[in-house]
Amino acid sequence: MRKNFFVGIGFDIHRLTLGRKLILGGIEIPFDKGLLGHSDGDVLCHAICDALLSSAGLSDIGSFFPDTDPKYKDISSVVILKEILARIKKKKLKIINLSAVLICETPKLNPYFKQIKTQLAKILKISENNIGLSAKTTEQMLFSFKKQAIACFAVVLVKR
Ligand code: MG
Repeated sequence: MRKNFFVGIGFDIHRLTLGRKLILGGIEIPFDKGLLGHSDGDVLCHAICDALLSSAGLSDIGSFFPDTDPKYKDISSVVILKEILARIKKKKLKIINLSAVLICETPKLNPYFKQIKTQLAKILKISENNIGLSAKTTEQMLFSFKKQAIACFAVVLVKR
């Protein structure tokens, strides 16, 4: 049978704020601020969700998990990601690889990549070798001097 390959891109950004846990890829990162959001604000999981939905030609995460619905208040984004994965599976799509770029001034995220990859590999049911993560600052040009946000781009390749 001929295999069909599809790519999907996702983007997300959340504001950093005091008094929240910083969760990225389902992993808690030690930092004095966390990401503000209706859910736990996990930009990495959200960008992956949008990339997956995009690869399947579906609408974005907000249309499946509206931030106005109290049901999703403080929900773990891993739960959201698993829900999206079920939709992808229904479309008979299998993930080949994931590539994501995290953008922030602080904290340094590279030390947590191994842990995040292990977690994502388990959730996405792919090899850690098929997950690429990188972290970039914006040379303090984009998020000003307040170091106030974390953004993420994610790309996935899937096959049917
Ligand atoms: Mg989000």
